[in-house]
Amino acid sequence: MPIRQLPDILVNQIAAGEVVERPASVVKELVENALDAGALRVDIDLEEGGVRLIRIRDDGSGIPPEELPLAVSRHATSKIGSLDDLEAVATLGFRGEALPSIASVSRFSLASRREDDAHGSVLDVDGGRVGIVAPKPHPRGTTVEVRDLFYNVPARRKFLRAERTELGHIEEWLRALALVRPDVELRVSHNGKPSRRYKGDEDLFSGARLVETLGREFADAALRVEHAAAGLRLHGWIAKPSYSRASADQQYLYVNGRAVRDRSVAHAVKQAFADVMYHGRQPAYVLFLELDPTRVDVNVHPAKHEVRFRDARLIHDFVYRTLHEALADTRAGQAGELAA
Ligand code: ADP
Ligand code: MG
Repeated sequence: MPIRQLPDILVNQIAAGEVVERPASVVKELVENALDAGALRVDIDLEEGGVRLIRIRDDGSGIPPEELPLAVSRHATSKIGSLDDLEAVATLGFRGEALPSIASVSRFSLASRREDDAHGSVLDVDGGRVGIVAPKPHPRGTTVEVRDLFYNVPARRKFLRAERTELGHIEEWLRALALVRPDVELRVSHNGKPSRRYKGDEDLFSGARLVETLGREFADAALRVEHAAAGLRLHGWIAKPSYSRASADQQYLYVNGRAVRDRSVAHAVKQAFADVMYHGRQPAYVLFLELDPTRVDVNVHPAKHEVRFRDARLIHDFVYRTLHEALADTRAGQAGELAA
């Protein structure tokens, strides 16, 4: 076969392979877009675990009608414009990939209205084929509808799991988002019934969101962490060792507000707990690490689950020392018990 340029739709479908693994990845990308647009309330309607329908409506800034086609074009973003912007990126999105990818593997529609627009507008995309912008009544903000995910990619559809499982993955992502943005109200419905509601307007450190997301038991066992040094700040909660887990299911790490997985930081936390926790048990934590954005590369993977630190060693030691110190009292308590 001669070398040829692939058509746009196929390029988007290939990109979708990395960005859109399952309904939960769609929910994550769309809610992140809503948060980037300044939304304080996000409604999430799901059908059949998100496979049949994901509808996300926000009260954010909205998109001007003439930009709707751009919003579903690849590498089109309002969030960065230069390499300098990328290095200091403060928004959750910046790659301009999510909407075109999602729209290429679903029946997709994007409706929006800005505060001052006379009316709202809508743009439909079917399996990557972009329609034309039409007027449509819409309150301030944006609604994205994703129907029949992977309807045109049978190979992918095959990998979708049972409704409950897919819903579980969605709820897990929402929990991670809810923990870091307690100021935002999130309402979820599934198959027409309200299934979850995180009330907004809460102070991150009031602990109310902790109860809503991880439960009373975690909140009661939580030790508040707050430490800053060398341009690094670590804050959040760790559960006392008495509240250990069989699995790593309650380990939330955020770097500059982005939920990530990081082996080195996870290792530092484990080390800090090493002498106060039974072997094989897992600590539970919600930790926010903040540092100058130029010290961390967020552009490591399309799904942005991972970051790369410029000084990983320093961060590892900072996290270890901070938590080791935070656990000092529990350590003293245990020593006392042993001595008695
Ligand atoms: P990215 O988030 O990386 O910029 P996306 O493909 O997710 O890329 O979105 C493309 C663009 O569409 C965004 O840069 C933004 O300008 C616009 N957009 C997407 N979703 C929303 C939303 N909910 N509210 C306002 N603007 C949005
Ligand atoms: Mg985005």
